[in-house]
Order: sequence, then structure tokens, then C-alpha cells
Amino acid sequence: MLHSTTEWQSLDSRHFMHPFTNTKDLARRGTRVITRAEGVYLLDSEGNQIIDGMAGLWCVNVGYGREELAKAAYEQLQQLPYYNSFFQCTHPPAIELSEKLAEISPPQFNHVFFVNSGSEANDTVLRMVRNYWKLLGQPQKRVLISRINGYHGSTVAGASLGGQKFIHEIDDLPIPDIVHIEQPYWYQNGGEHSPSQYGILAAQELEKKINELGIERVAAFIGEPIQGAGGVIVPPETYWPEIQRICDKYGILLIADEVICGFGRTGHWFGSEYFNIKPDLMPIAKGLSSGYLPIGGVMVSDRIADVIIGKGKEFAHGFTYSGHPAACVVASRNLEIIEREGLLEKVQNDTGPYLRQLWERFNEHPLVGEVRIVGLLGAIELVDDKSSRRFFKERGKVGERCRDLCIQNGLVMRAVQDTMILSPPLVATRGHLDEIYEKASKTLNQLAEELGRC
Ligand SMILES: *Cc1c(COP(=O)(O)O)cnc(C)c1O
Repeated sequence: MLHSTTEWQSLDSRHFMHPFTNTKDLARRGTRVITRAEGVYLLDSEGNQIIDGMAGLWCVNVGYGREELAKAAYEQLQQLPYYNSFFQCTHPPAIELSEKLAEISPPQFNHVFFVNSGSEANDTVLRMVRNYWKLLGQPQKRVLISRINGYHGSTVAGASLGGQKFIHEIDDLPIPDIVHIEQPYWYQNGGEHSPSQYGILAAQELEKKINELGIERVAAFIGEPIQGAGGVIVPPETYWPEIQRICDKYGILLIADEVICGFGRTGHWFGSEYFNIKPDLMPIAKGLSSGYLPIGGVMVSDRIADVIIGKGKEFAHGFTYSGHPAACVVASRNLEIIEREGLLEKVQNDTGPYLRQLWERFNEHPLVGEVRIVGLLGAIELVDDKSSRRFFKERGKVGERCRDLCIQNGLVMRAVQDTMILSPPLVATRGHLDEIYEKASKTLNQLAEELGRC
């Protein structure tokens, strides 16, 4: 069935309710119809070629158009399209992927629980954490401490763990026993403190909260090593060591949500390794399969496994498609590609440092308050006044305009309020990064001109 763009758009607005979208507004603007992708480029139904600075939604780490992944799925679907792993059964694709994940993850991780998304991974984490303390005879230890403006998905537990007001508002989340502390967002919240002083102070909010609640109620702390959806907020280097110290001191579990930071984004397998922290649980998804098929998981450390498995009780939780054979095969093959093509080393030693050089040039731009960058994860903070770190009065308008100009210039960058964020496929070459830089640069100049800020 071949439609024109306007026919696609009209059908879309009549029947397709999009996630995280103002549907009425979208119907007015018309959605972009993406029909093809290859490498780091998208093609839309009008024949425009757009460089994908977001790797889809932070997930297409090995780039588009990998025949090898398509073939792996095809062959698995013919041989065994589906079987469950609930009732004393298993299958080679899930076994092989769990072995591989145990191999590449930090040494404390030897088990994985499969799910289909990052949100389900966080729901699983919530149940696992509470079950862990219950099995240890401390059922009152139920509170998870999370952060304002964190993102952990949009199921009920995932959205509750997340700390974004506009998400909580639609149905009055969070659920009980989830509380939020300040995020380590120096640019916005650091005031007169240096970033390293502020990193310690932001982390000590955790200790304050533990004392306020009473340690007998606190089960765990959860955070993304680098907040993604909240605006690529890279914490000061003092932050995570202090969080680790507090978790260790009080014996609470540390959960690193690796859904974005995992699988090479920072130049390491996991963001926890970049920050040198030792989590007890790691939700994973996105880059695990480079988005070719939906799959996620929870990496479970020996500390947790020894109790949940060790006590010999059923963990009454799971999904029909947990460890789906085709998704597992694609994920295994995707990890193989990351290794074979040396993508971690490439991001760490070559394209990451190169992108940093390019990105730091934006510090000179009249609209840019700061840039943040780790590996191939970056942000540009657009501000009203650089010297006083003052944001625009109506947050989000300039960012939205910038995003629209980016697209017109053939580049996908997302806006989180007035922060422009970047997360290109890990296969992006220096040439691709030059192209992204040039398009971003052109966009910022157009924007400065529109705002009279050249
Ligand atoms: C995207 C994301 C999730 C949710 O993953 P879904 O697959 O969309 O459910 C959870 N945590 C983090 C850090 C994410 O970026």
C-alpha cells in the first residue's frame, strides 16, 4: 500500500496515538514519516536525508541497515520463533545471551533476568529489591530513593521511580515508598559552589534522606550514571564516589540504570565503569539490541542472587516474552558487532575525544551556557545569559525552535527544555561527527540571528 505523505499523515492522526505526544498539536503540525534508514542516516517519505544525532531513541548503537542482525532474526524465527522459559524449559538463544552478559559486565554480575524494555526492567528492579529485603527478614525496608528529573520508564513503577513532574501529574504518581532527592545538575542548581563541591553536596542529599526516613525503611538508591532524558546531565566527578560511600555506609542497594549508558555510549560497556562505581543491580535495554528487536534485562549481582536464588523461593514475576529467542539472538549478534568493530575503543580513544573537541567550540557561542560530553553522549545548554547562568524565562521555547531548525538543516537533535541533546550511533565516523557539528553550528547561528543575539 503506497500512500502520499499527506495520506500517511492523515491516517496517522486518525488512528495512531503516539507516546509522549500532544496528539492534537501533532495533527496540526503533521508528523514526519520515516521510511528507511542506513548507517547513521534516516530517509523520510519526502526523500529528505537526515543524519540521526539521536541513534533513534538512544538505542541504535551499531547503526541502521545491519543485514547480519536481520538474518539472525530470520533464521531464529524459522527454527524456534517462541518458547517460554517459565516452566522448567529454556532455549539456547537466552542461555547464550545470559552467558555473554555475565562475561562483559563487572565481576559481581553473574545473572540476568530478561524483560522486553527498560520500563519493565525497572519494574523488575523494584520487586526484586523489596523481595530481597523481605527474604532477609526486613520487610519494612521498602523505600527506593531516586532523583528529581531522573528517567526510568513509563510503566507505573518506572514512571514513579522517574522524577519528572509532567509525567507524575497525569495520574498522580509516584506510588508509595518512592521518594526523590535533588539531581546533580550543577549548571542549574550549583549556585556559587564549584562543580566538585556541589557534587558532594548533591550526593549528601541521599544521606540526609536516609536519616530523615530512618535506615530501617530504606531499601535502595537508583540513578542513571548520566541522566539521559532529563537533559544529558553529567554529574561532577565527585558525585558518584560519594553516593557509593553512602550506600556502602548504610548497606543499601545501589542500582545503576544503564538503559542509555550501557553498551558503549560512554566508551565502556557500562556507565558504572566510566564512573568506577559498583552497583548491585543494573537495568539494561536500548543498546543491548541496538533497537532491532525489543529486549531488556536486569543484571543481578551475586549479593542479590545469593538471597533471591539462594533462599530457594520462587521469584513470582516475569513476562511472556522474557528472553524471546529472536530478540536474544539479535542482542548476542549486536554485542558481537560491538566487539568485532572495536566500538568501545573507538568511542573511548577516537570519536569520543574528537566529538569533545568539536562540541567544546560551542562554548564560544553567545547562546551556549555550557556543553557537556562523555563518549558519544552530549548536551548544549542554551541560555538567556551566559555570565549569570540565567535560563530563558519561558523554558523550552528556544529549545523547540532549535530542534525544528535542526531538522530543516538535516540533523536530528532532541530538545529537553532548552538543552539540545546528542547521542549518535556509535558507528559514526569523524566525518559524520563533522557533519553533525556543521549542521548544529549552522542551526545555532540561525537561532542567534532570530533572537537578535549574534
Ligand atoms: C528509555 C529509558 C528507560 C525506559 O525504557 P523503555 O524501553 O522505553 O521502557 C528506562 N531508563 C532509562 C535510563 C531510559 O533512558
